[in-house]
Amino acid sequence: MRTSTPTRLKLDPIGCRAHGLCEELLPELISLDEWGYPMLADRPVPPELLAHARRAAAACPALALRLRQDTT
Ligand code: SF4
Repeated sequence: MRTSTPTRLKLDPIGCRAHGLCEELLPELISLDEWGYPMLADRPVPPELLAHARRAAAACPALALRLRQDTT
């Protein structure tokens, strides 16, 4: 049986402005470091969190958070 390709969060560390909004919307996969920059969980986005992950990426004011298909 073929399964769908895992999806991962991807951060543009240059574009990120440490607003912290993403962590508020997706605390299951994002935590903030001491400067307020996000640290992403090193695992694919589970299916039950995909909608939340999409919302967090769409809400990023700096367009620094994306979702990508994990082809590795
Ligand atoms: S919402 Fe965007 S700019 Fe703000 S911390 Fe998250 S990735 Fe960075």
